[in-house]
Amino acid sequence: MGKKNKRNLSAVAPEKFTGIKLSEPKKYAAGMPAIKVALNHALKEMGLTRSIQTLSSLNQKNGIDCPGCAWPDPENRSSLGEFCENGVKAIAEEATTKRVTADFFAKHSITEMASWSDYEIGKSGRLTDPMILKPGNDHYEPISWEDAFPKIADSLRKLDDPNEAVFYASGRSSNEAAFLYGLFIRAFGTNNMPDCSNMCHESSGVALTETLGIGKGSATLVDFEEAEVIMVIGQNPGTNHPRMLSALEKCKRNGGKIIAVNPLEEAGLMRFKNPQKIHGMVASGTPITDIFLQVKINQDVALLKLIIKKLAKLDAESGDVFDHDFIENKTQGFHGFLKDLACYDEGELLELCGVDSDNLEKAVELLAKKNKIIICWAMGLTQHKNGVDNIKECVNLLLSKGSIGKKGTGTCPVRGHSNVQGDRTVGIMHHISESLNKAFEGAFEFKPPDKDGLDTVHCIKAMHEGRAKVFMALGGNFLSASPDTVYTGEALQNCELTVSISTKLNRTHLVTGQTSLILPTLGRTEQDPFHGKNRYVTVENSMGRVHQSHGNLQPASGNLKSEPDIVTGIAAAYFKGNSNIDWQRLGSDYDFVREKISEVFTGFDNYSVRSKGGGFDLPNNSRSGDFSKLPGGRASFSTCNLPNHNLTKGAFLLMTIRSHDQFNTTIYGLDDRYRGVYNERRVVFMNPNDAKIHGFKKLDKVDLVSNYDGQERRAKNFLVVPYKIPQGNLAAYFPETNVLIPINHFADKSNTPISKSVEVDVKRSNQR
Ligand code: SF4
Repeated sequence: MGKKNKRNLSAVAPEKFTGIKLSEPKKYAAGMPAIKVALNHALKEMGLTRSIQTLSSLNQKNGIDCPGCAWPDPENRSSLGEFCENGVKAIAEEATTKRVTADFFAKHSITEMASWSDYEIGKSGRLTDPMILKPGNDHYEPISWEDAFPKIADSLRKLDDPNEAVFYASGRSSNEAAFLYGLFIRAFGTNNMPDCSNMCHESSGVALTETLGIGKGSATLVDFEEAEVIMVIGQNPGTNHPRMLSALEKCKRNGGKIIAVNPLEEAGLMRFKNPQKIHGMVASGTPITDIFLQVKINQDVALLKLIIKKLAKLDAESGDVFDHDFIENKTQGFHGFLKDLACYDEGELLELCGVDSDNLEKAVELLAKKNKIIICWAMGLTQHKNGVDNIKECVNLLLSKGSIGKKGTGTCPVRGHSNVQGDRTVGIMHHISESLNKAFEGAFEFKPPDKDGLDTVHCIKAMHEGRAKVFMALGGNFLSASPDTVYTGEALQNCELTVSISTKLNRTHLVTGQTSLILPTLGRTEQDPFHGKNRYVTVENSMGRVHQSHGNLQPASGNLKSEPDIVTGIAAAYFKGNSNIDWQRLGSDYDFVREKISEVFTGFDNYSVRSKGGGFDLPNNSRSGDFSKLPGGRASFSTCNLPNHNLTKGAFLLMTIRSHDQFNTTIYGLDDRYRGVYNERRVVFMNPNDAKIHGFKKLDKVDLVSNYDGQERRAKNFLVVPYKIPQGNLAAYFPETNVLIPINHFADKSNTPISKSVEVDVKRSNQR
């Protein structure tokens, strides 16, 4: 397919400082400062009218579903606004009045744009027209939709094998778009469907499927109100799922207790000033965490083993700490699990996890007495080599207490992107399932491919090694979301064609294949008119409820298409009428798409009607305590090993984190208000004792260096910020630190990159 890409732009964002200011970390989340910051973002990006139009409908029944996180909406929605500060930022980012037009691309070369920070790139505005970057050129130029679709179709047709194409999906896309995308990919002939789940909750999906028979959580918002104890492990809700704080507050007001387990003491878990409540605004707010266990990075299994061991001891004395009826009737593997647990020494476990022993005893005492327990978690558990075991150990604790399948109990993997769970439900999945293939065959009369496809890590490797030549992305910022930035950049640049279906400019548009196409699409906030009617889409929240989202703004440009239109346009151009599938109808009639989804997947009967208002819940065997379809007909205890970190002397374990002004790879601003960092992202949080031992002072300039498989990876120019973090641990923001994450190191079974436990050295930076 012609000459190789000669551009080879650096995949790494500029490593420049922006002028740091520090203050003391905050002791509470939300309140008046959150309202002020949210309003600033809204008015600056959208102006008053658009702000009112979008925010009055945000997360209301039949309104706009927030394109931020996947936290569910309560049945009774507040008329004061059912959203958080970061939801407003997400909306402002999408509904901005700034535009990236054809003139913008004529003015700015990709070489120039690649020298901008991710923040600057993102703030450029909404894409307005389809654009093409031709081989050897440094500027994108306009291309019509009529030319863009056949161009992509030609490139796909020229491949020797359908498996030479990879199709990424981000968690922003609707169920309708994701289903059509998966349908086209299967009809094209591959299962190469990497998605953002591979990089976040894949470990949860694997662990929960193996132990409980469903790769989703079981707890609901009502369970949060009824729970006696909620454990929040490896998760920072104050920034990443802020409305979860309202649910935790309700639990507290009903007498529940919160145990927080995390290497960092985050403001949102300390105290919450609920902006929807008078007492939240004028009083001191609600203290959220009752017991804080400051665990060392990736020592959650050690901590959970220690807790269960202590509970087992109490149970041996009283016989009523564990739920023996439940264990007997609903589970398997308990005795093997206890036998394995007996091999561990309590003192060693305590030393490994590093938590305060008094707090630990309080947590054990509380858990011993209570049975309505929910465990919530996020990337702090999933993005490790032993990510799957981390979740399984949580399940062990819940099973031993009988805290599954009953009111006020359950698992709660808190999903990061608004429809990441829905995309997977409706078929974005690189593994094949015979029954799913049969269902697709029944509904569409074609045979889907019967071999597993590649996940994110393995797609990157395939592109790097020249085994994959066409890369397409339905949303997202693949380069910045992926590990090993330089390697991933080379992989994309090895491709003959890269295609991005996007709302906004991002770094993946600049580090491209020989030819690159940007296809601009409608956002959630925008109307999607067809034959005089405004079409709506549906999404699934983190707790498995499917509901509608209706955009209400005029589209950013008259030249945008919806994601279903684009996907089916590409499909129609590829098949040129040689397909049993009516692509044209599917691209225009979303009710028809939903009918087809309900033919392929269970639980979607009468889909369009039931998705109105509050929506409907998908079947969930774990929620109903039915484990009959699992091997042996029971939920499973697991024996999990401790992680093995043999750090070289002087090395640290680094976890990548988000700032408060960030959602995944989207950088809303340069502040991390709750942690007291302003106008700077190139910081590394370090324990003050470690700083002293290593001879670093506050704001010393350092490089972070990882060394895996004999290859040095360096993230340059970070400022040391002494912080309350366990000794030997560091935290720094992604995507800046993604460059350190080795492509070949990922979680067992789930292949999730080890973004939360990267061994690094801290070296003085050469830059003065
Ligand atoms: S909690 Fe999540 S879904 Fe809700 S408004 Fe905030 S960012 Fe959006």
